[in-house]
Formats: sequence, C-alpha cells, structure tokens
Amino acid sequence: MVLAQLGGSISRALQQMSNATIIDEKVLSDCLNEISRALLQADVQFKMVRDMQSNIKRIVNFDDLAAGHNKRRIIQQAIFNELCKMLDPGKPSFTPKKGKTSVIMFVGLQGSGKTTTCTKYAYYHQKKGWKPALVCADTFRAGAFDQLKQNATKAKIPFYGSYTESDPVKIAAEGVERFKKENCDLIIVDTSGRHKQEAALFEEMRQVSEATKPDLVIFVMDGGIGQAAFDQAQAFKQSVAVGAVIVTKMDGHAKGGGALSAVAATKSPVIFIGTGEHMDEFEVFDVKPFVSRLLGMGDWSGFMDKIHEVVPTDQQLELLQKLSEGTFTLRQYQNILKMGPSVQVLSMLPGFSAESMPKGHEKESQAKIKRYMVMMDSMTNAELDSTNPKLMNESRIRRIARGSGRQVSDVMDMLEEYKRLANILSKRKGFKIPKKGEMSALSRNMNA
Ligand code: GDP
Repeated sequence: MVLAQLGGSISRALQQMSNATIIDEKVLSDCLNEISRALLQADVQFKMVRDMQSNIKRIVNFDDLAAGHNKRRIIQQAIFNELCKMLDPGKPSFTPKKGKTSVIMFVGLQGSGKTTTCTKYAYYHQKKGWKPALVCADTFRAGAFDQLKQNATKAKIPFYGSYTESDPVKIAAEGVERFKKENCDLIIVDTSGRHKQEAALFEEMRQVSEATKPDLVIFVMDGGIGQAAFDQAQAFKQSVAVGAVIVTKMDGHAKGGGALSAVAATKSPVIFIGTGEHMDEFEVFDVKPFVSRLLGMGDWSGFMDKIHEVVPTDQQLELLQKLSEGTFTLRQYQNILKMGPSVQVLSMLPGFSAESMPKGHEKESQAKIKRYMVMMDSMTNAELDSTNPKLMNESRIRRIARGSGRQVSDVMDMLEEYKRLANILSKRKGFKIPKKGEMSALSRNMNA
C-alpha cells in the first residue's frame, strides 16, 4: 500500500469531478482545491502545490475548449502530467548489470533504514537471478554487523564484517576484494550513519568511497521527514557523489509525498521506495506508474511484473481474465497472495485503491500469508477452482484443517477473508485487460 491516504483523497476528488453533470470552472476549481489540500497534508511544499494548481488552470482553458472535447479527460491528463512533473526524479548515474561486478555503497543517517534497505536491495536482485553480497562497514553502531548478518543469513546472501576490526575503510576494502574474487555481481557496502560530528561522518564516507571505488552511491532517507528531505538530500549530494536515492517508510508516514517531491526537487533520482519492515516490502520507483496508482488508474506494468515473477505461466492469463470478469476463486486468491499482501497487489489494478478495500480487511502479514498458503495447499483442485460458495462444507473445512495442521477456526478465518475480497472484486469487474505488448504503454499513459 503506497501513500494510501493521499491516493484515496486524490482519486475521490477526481471521482467527484467525474460525477458532475457539467464540468465548468467551479467544478475544476473544487477538484483542484481538494487535491491541493491532500498534497499539503502530505507535506508537499506550498509553492509546488500552488504552481501545480495554476499550471493546470492555464492548460485547461474552458474558453478554448471546443464543444465536444472531453473536458474530463483533458483535466485528468493535466493533473497526471503535473503530478509526474512534481515527482520526476531523473535518471540514476549508473545502472548495474547482471553478471558484471558492480560495487554499490549505501549512505544515510542512522535510523533512516539503511541497513534494512541494503538487504532489501540485495534480496530484490537475488530473486531476479543476481549474485549479491553484503559488506558491513558500519563499525560505529554497536549491533550493526549483527543486524546485517541476521538479515543476510535469513535471505541466504553472503556477507562480510568484523566484530573486532574498528577501521571501516579496511573492512570495506577487504569485503569488496573478497566478493570480487567470488564473482559476485552486486557488492553492497553498508556504511555508518552516525557520528558525533557531521563532518566526521562525511569524511569517513569519502574514505570508504576512495577505498572501494563504488560504481554507484545510494543515499537512503526516511520518508517521514517530509519536505525537510530537500535539505538532507542536498547536504549528502554536496559531500558524496550520490547517484540514486531510496526513500524508506513510505508505508507509515503521511508525509511520504512531501519527501518524494522534495527529493525530486534536488534532481536526485529516487529508484526504490521502502514500504514496510519486511524484506520484500520494497518497490521500484517509476514516476508514471506511481502517479497512475495514486490517481486510482492502476499500474499494469507493476502488476504484470509481479505476475511474471510468481504466478505459474499457465495460470497468468486465467488470473487476469477472472479478475476482469469479477470471478475470484480461491486459486486466484492464492495467486494474489503469492504476489504479496492483497491490498498492495490489488491497488495496482485500475479502479482499486487501498481505501476501496472491504472494511475489516487488513494487510496480511507475512506470517498470515504463509498460514493461508499452507491451508490452500491442503485444498483439492475442485475446491480451489470452485465458484460455488456452498462447496466448502463442514467436512471439507475439517479435512483442510487436519491436512494443514491448523484449527478449524483458522480455515474459517481464511475463507471469511477470501469472501470479503471476492465480494468487492465482483463489484469492480469489467476493467480492460491490456493486450500483449500494450502493457508498458498502458501504464505510461492514462488509458488504463
Ligand atoms: P539504519 O540505522 O539506517 O541502518 O536503520 P535500520 O535499517 O536499522 O532501520 C531502522 C528501523 O526502521 C528498523 O526498525 C527498520 O525495521 C525500520 N524500517 C526500515 N525500512 C522501513 C520501511 O520501509 N518501512 C517501515 N515501516 N520500517 C522500516
């Protein structure tokens, strides 16, 4: 779920405009005021919001619009373009290539989520067939090595660090050397985030950088700081050659939108965002699909990426068709959960937003997803593919509970959650499935 509140408010404002019988200047003005209020609440800088509002008013000139023009579409397009402009972060200075060794150095203040993000970044690439490795050059914070080691072990990613060596430059150089010999293609160096003086922190970063010659320096920052992100990003940019930025904690803070726009204003390219504490709560940041999702218009390329990653090839088309028909079987629920928590996954579809999810439906935790998966593994094909709600009788529920080593109440709980989602999906049917080859184009313009 990305910036659910902001996205919800903006798509509600657009919906209200769409519901108006006649779209005139007053309706546009009301819609823009609503959107501006939502952006200001997300801590987007006042000047940016004011500029966006006046740009849209200039582009949508009612006097010039010939009768027959689709005003609604022109307005939506203008809002889409302005939001993209506001958030456009530019391109990173370097893009690593699979199979070719790259050294990536992570910098950022303590508590920003840097160590967590190093593992998320490694894990993301490992899933795509890369050979990543982690080096802990944070000798300042007690426990930093343990944290990295624990995360790396969990994700089965090789790591390097020391409990005794206190020179971060030495550790960084040794770690990079070792993993180069082992032919790792993504060597990630985690640096310290705290020092008594800022000058000492920047000096250490410069020395580690000198010793490891990184191909890319990634600056990690906490999205919760809102528009203050501008000054922080500028300060780091001026001291080290920051080539890309990752903004974390976009799940828990209302100010995430402000942080993203502030970073974009420093012309620093945001490449990923962190959306939770877990390893896979990490998303590629691509401005057009992101804005498309904010406006409730879906993110087909993100959705298709997820499908290709985890859903068996022979079930991919069926999943799309069934979702579009509003027929949501347990097999579809199983496939959605493979892609992540259902709120997060379904918000990539046009017409869905986190706010449109059924009341009482919470984002499933990793533990819950695992539990549901085990129970679904104990179901027969007929049960997974059935559209008959009465099929799941008591004896079937007992058998599934026994087979998966769970309680009957656990199975009932899962079925209840499934029914809630099936209900909402049945009301949202009818969205157009993009044709092969149209996929990326659709998420890049607003026809979705
Ligand atoms: P570091 O000091 O910069 O290395 O920060 P850590 O990696 O230790 O993270 C600090 C805290 O932020 C930890 O509790 C992490 O679990 C949490 N954290 C990191 N990224 C995210 C995120 O994207 N969302 C949320 N909710 N928490 C995060």
